[in-house]
Amino acid sequence: MSLMEAVTTGLASDNGLFMPERIDEFNPDFFKRIYRMTFQDISYEVAKKFFGDEIPFDVLKNLVNDTLNFDCPLVQVDPQVYSLELFHGPTLAFKDVGGRFMARLLAYFLRGFEKEVNVLVATSGDTGSAVANGFYKVPGIKVYVLYPKGLVSDIQEKQFTTLGHNITALEIDGTFDDCQRLVKSAFLDKQLTESMVLTSANSINVARFLPQAFYYFNAYARLRETGNVDDVVISVPSGNFGNLTAGLFAKFMGLPVKRFVAANNENDIVYNYLKTGNYAPRASVSTIANAMDVGDPSNFARILALYDHSHEYITHDVVGYRYSDAEIRETMKQVFDQNNYMLDPHGAVGYRALKADLKDGEAGIFLETAHPAKFTETVENVLGKGTVTLPGKLAEFMKGEKKSVPLSIDFDDFKNFLLKK
Ligand SMILES: *Cc1c(COP(=O)(O)O)cnc(C)c1O
Repeated sequence: MSLMEAVTTGLASDNGLFMPERIDEFNPDFFKRIYRMTFQDISYEVAKKFFGDEIPFDVLKNLVNDTLNFDCPLVQVDPQVYSLELFHGPTLAFKDVGGRFMARLLAYFLRGFEKEVNVLVATSGDTGSAVANGFYKVPGIKVYVLYPKGLVSDIQEKQFTTLGHNITALEIDGTFDDCQRLVKSAFLDKQLTESMVLTSANSINVARFLPQAFYYFNAYARLRETGNVDDVVISVPSGNFGNLTAGLFAKFMGLPVKRFVAANNENDIVYNYLKTGNYAPRASVSTIANAMDVGDPSNFARILALYDHSHEYITHDVVGYRYSDAEIRETMKQVFDQNNYMLDPHGAVGYRALKADLKDGEAGIFLETAHPAKFTETVENVLGKGTVTLPGKLAEFMKGEKKSVPLSIDFDDFKNFLLKK
């Protein structure tokens, strides 16, 4: 199986997920000089390890530089804790890196390809906009964004329902899990796959989730730059677990991270697995950290595969925490009042889990996965009216008119809609 096949098909024919065949480790010297490198240069080195066998280096370098036209700064929140801000991309979502990289990689693989390619993507909020913006107006590619009706924030919804052109938003009368199931079912449907070229842009696609490893290498580099060389612990607000999986890949490639903290909201399926060894998916519940409302995280299978299905190995590298909406609000308020740092609800879960887990002498980084303005209503409910300013990029989206196609959670509805296209 080539990278090209894995990227263009998205999901294996048995409905399983693709994994890289091997993981290439960096020479330890790389980590001694990493702090002198930029985010873009580090990412290029990482991309070579993942994709260098199949893509010429000069093409890859352009791909990386073109994807990463934004910064990924490390901001100190308290003496022991840093926030790695992943929200400075075009849609202010950490998924921008995967969405943009995948769009460019797919466009590269499909050069000269005559058929139209249909990208299916289920979103709990942020994936839809990152992927839609990555593929916006790319010739030969049509994007269908499936999102749960009423369960994403206004700004999130505007970001993928107002674009038009080759982007179609499907408003599903169900949850994120229903959307994800519809996408997976489409790949298993012979009639669909024989009549149109389908691929997925969810983190089930390797080109979507692997580039997220760039963030972790950058996190380490920027921490070293501050002169802090303590044991590093990284906390990841998690839903579908693509981001954390990318972090674990980084560790397997030699990145010196002592352990990872998997931070859940009330959708605590992986938290329970870490505690008990028993993985019991269940229907998701809706929370104020809605991008993490996932009841059966796709990438958990990849984590199991990385660790030979050993609960013992996994818990050696990953510890879990889970927080209620009330606890998330409490943390947002406390950090704003005491540290003068504005957390979004997802980052708040990561921060709190990190604080709970850090030991003396360790340095902690949590991933701040969304700009607080993407959740203005929730943030202002907690911190007070007028505390959030909408960045220019987001204000632009709010001006557009929402256009979406309402659909039920019935697969046949979705299938018929696609067949009529
Ligand atoms: C997608 C998302 C997450 C969860 O990331 P996963 O890779 O699905 O675990 C966390 N926060 C925000 C803001 C997101 O959009």
